[in-house]
Amino acid sequence: MRANKSRDTRPELAVRRAAHALGLRYRVSVRPVPSLRRTADLVFTRAKVAVFVDGCFWHGCPEHHTVAVTNAGYWAAKVIRNRDRDAETTRLLEEAGWISLRFWEHEDPAMAAEAIRQTVVTARQALKSDNVTSVSQGRLGPTG
Ligand SMILES: [Zn+2]
Repeated sequence: MRANKSRDTRPELAVRRAAHALGLRYRVSVRPVPSLRRTADLVFTRAKVAVFVDGCFWHGCPEHHTVAVTNAGYWAAKVIRNRDRDAETTRLLEEAGWISLRFWEHEDPAMAAEAIRQTVVTARQALKSDNVTSVSQGRLGPTG
């Protein structure tokens, strides 16, 4: 079944493949927190790291989002809603003790995977040392 955010998009697959190649193991397209109706693309349950690969158009990438010529108002509103929802998801997950990593679909999958690896390793080390200081990160990558 396909939700309105399609799973198994090509950029998402590329990030998954690159992360897998680094030895990372994760769950795919599941809810990090079952009670929250938000699905992440890669989920590291024990480390509590959720990864999202956002489509440039639907999530309003500053580099590639182009407003459709017809119905510009409709699309713009939809993108704004998506962005608000993304920010809310990050906040809700943070409150639940999760780290959210967000990447644009245009970002280099290998670099995204490396950033994921570092975050997961750090989160696991924090677990081991029983250090509750949370490592919080926002969107990585170039911002424009
Ligand atoms: Zn983009």
